[in-house]
Amino acid sequence: MFESDALDIAQRSSTGSLPPADDIADLVVRAHARYADVNEGRVADYIPILAEADPARFGLSIVGVDGSAFEAGDVGVEFSIQSISKAFVFALVCEEIGHEAVHELVGVNNTGLAFNSLIAMELNGGSPMNPMVNAGAIATTGLLPAESSEERWRRVREGLSRFAGRKLALDEVVYRSEAETNHRNRAIGKLLQSYGRLDPDPLETVDVYTRQCALSVTAHDLAVMGATLADGGVNPITGEQVVSAAVCRDTLTVLASCGMYERSGEWLFEIGLPAKSGVAGGIVAVSPGKGAVGAYSPRLDPAGNSVRGQRACAYLSRALGLNLFASARWSTPEPSSSSRADTRRHAEEHPDV
Ligand code: GLN
Repeated sequence: MFESDALDIAQRSSTGSLPPADDIADLVVRAHARYADVNEGRVADYIPILAEADPARFGLSIVGVDGSAFEAGDVGVEFSIQSISKAFVFALVCEEIGHEAVHELVGVNNTGLAFNSLIAMELNGGSPMNPMVNAGAIATTGLLPAESSEERWRRVREGLSRFAGRKLALDEVVYRSEAETNHRNRAIGKLLQSYGRLDPDPLETVDVYTRQCALSVTAHDLAVMGATLADGGVNPITGEQVVSAAVCRDTLTVLASCGMYERSGEWLFEIGLPAKSGVAGGIVAVSPGKGAVGAYSPRLDPAGNSVRGQRACAYLSRALGLNLFASARWSTPEPSSSSRADTRRHAEEHPDV
């Protein structure tokens, strides 16, 4: 479909920068206050332990590519990363096997169906199509080069820890709760095997996937991990190059079309940022070249996306000027064009989704 030599031309990165620090600090507190009382949605309970989460928890963190952090609420509370791990394992696998192989072996299109769908694979000749739903994510985990499942798990954990800039721990209780009840994911693993889409042992690969979903993170960790994708693959806290800039571009592209499950189109329409959510209530939304928002609140909409997290991201995207698709007529920039008053006025004019 595309001329491959055109893909070799160097790409420019997204331009612009975040508004002044005082504005960001103020807006993150406002976003938190604005949505803290929203009680719509339900805490996930299909993984039994997740039902015990405190629905009142709500944390928001913004980390810039310069490493600055702006936070409000429960930003230090740990929860399981769940599906958000799919984005970062995808990046690690892209780094190892490359753009073409991932395109061919997993696919980069939205299935339009629920994250744990089996029928999506059946309808598409056995292709998982989308690395951000369970089938594609289990296939992706199976593509991470390793001699054994133990080594694959070690590489996943170390890789995600490099994105976070600290050693991430496995939440054993969450892992056990999901491992005892994940019959559907095991069926997905077997179905992938039957279509020749999974080389390593399917049940062992599902086990590695279950562990990766049970890594504990905070809203702050998610913002650092997202800011690494926003920063050409360099962790803004540790300075480590975790993956290449080309891999960040590929990962963010897939997040834009597939990161919010079957609501990805609506998310992009309202918020205009690549993002990924998980059923424990986390969301990471990435603004290429600028930074990332990490959100945590466990009440979910029917697709499995945090309700407060989505609303806060919409507010912040508008208030901070993050939407990738928003433009204004070109004119010579004036020094006052991103003044604090402008930023606040914009937030108040476009408050909610
Ligand atoms: N571990 C979860 C599962 O496989 C992740 C799903 C999610 O966060 N949407 O069901």
